[in-house]
Amino acid sequence: MKRIAVLTSGGDSPGMNACIRAVVRAGCSMGLETWGIMRGYQGMIENDLKPLPAESVGNIIQYGGTILKSARSAAFRTPEGRKQAYENLRKAGIEGLVCIGGDGSYTGAKVFFEEYGIPSIGCPGTIDNDLYGTDYTIGFDTAVNTALDAIDRVRDTADSHNRVFFIEVMGRDSGHIALHSGLAGGSEGIFVPERHNEFQQIVEAYGNKNRQKAFSIFIVAEGDEEGKAYEVADEFRKVYPDADARVTVLGHVQRGGKPTANDRILASRLGAHAVKGLLEGRSNEAVGVVNNAIEYTPFADAIGKHKDINEKLWELSTILTR
Ligand code: ATP
Repeated sequence: MKRIAVLTSGGDSPGMNACIRAVVRAGCSMGLETWGIMRGYQGMIENDLKPLPAESVGNIIQYGGTILKSARSAAFRTPEGRKQAYENLRKAGIEGLVCIGGDGSYTGAKVFFEEYGIPSIGCPGTIDNDLYGTDYTIGFDTAVNTALDAIDRVRDTADSHNRVFFIEVMGRDSGHIALHSGLAGGSEGIFVPERHNEFQQIVEAYGNKNRQKAFSIFIVAEGDEEGKAYEVADEFRKVYPDADARVTVLGHVQRGGKPTANDRILASRLGAHAVKGLLEGRSNEAVGVVNNAIEYTPFADAIGKHKDINEKLWELSTILTR
């Protein structure tokens, strides 16, 4: 293998640039030339490829977003689109791929490998931390810290006015960001899609006569089955009409910003080991960190198996957040 390519696909996450840098620089150290594919699979189809020499990834480690841009490509879901993508890679002499993204991006890489045999390794790039085969995904730590900063700010004003705040964090199908930011932010209740009946519990806890605080912070994952933050707050007002309940939706601020040290280090390790894996003949696998050791997981498992929230942290949160 002499030439590989790297792409970022699906939702972006802070630390993707650090991962691209690691792929390029580790590749250089192992005698490989690395190319960048712009806008994920869409750029592969449109032949938007360019060589990435070592110096091209200088001064990017500190930035969120992705210098390669990201996209969702409907065309790559079609056999014709993937055929065009393969032709472009073949002409450019690309013999291996590193795909940085979430489970959708892994699915695209898996299908592509099965059809055309170009080896590929996935790097978990998503703020949601919902990928099986790694304890943490690139961008999760930054997103949690961004949410935490916002929670602390809301806490100040909640305290001044004795208000109850429902803060909505990202997580369409997963409560990792909600659990971690809620626990770190000292919230009084956390709503996650993986657990049920949180509403009943917080209603009981809020009604506890021994409460010392006159304000409350609740964290709601956007995909919670009991509703989004506005809906949960509406239900809460029905039970406690005198409470001054407000909602803050954090949204896309969680996807941007300077990656934390943890995310930069994780991205650097995973990017380098993705290249190492390719050179060792690995393919159709995602690289991850499990118990602080590098592990490779078949795409089929990384896509198909569900990663639950950390049960011990969940239990702890139910004790400490009351
Ligand atoms: P995130 O969950 O953080 O948004 P993701 O990688 O899961 O990231 P998706 O939009 O689901 O994001 O997938 C990214 C791209 O992967 C899609 O736009 C599509 O081009 C490709 N892809 C996803 N599923 C398939 C599939 N079944 N076949 C071919 N390509 C696919």
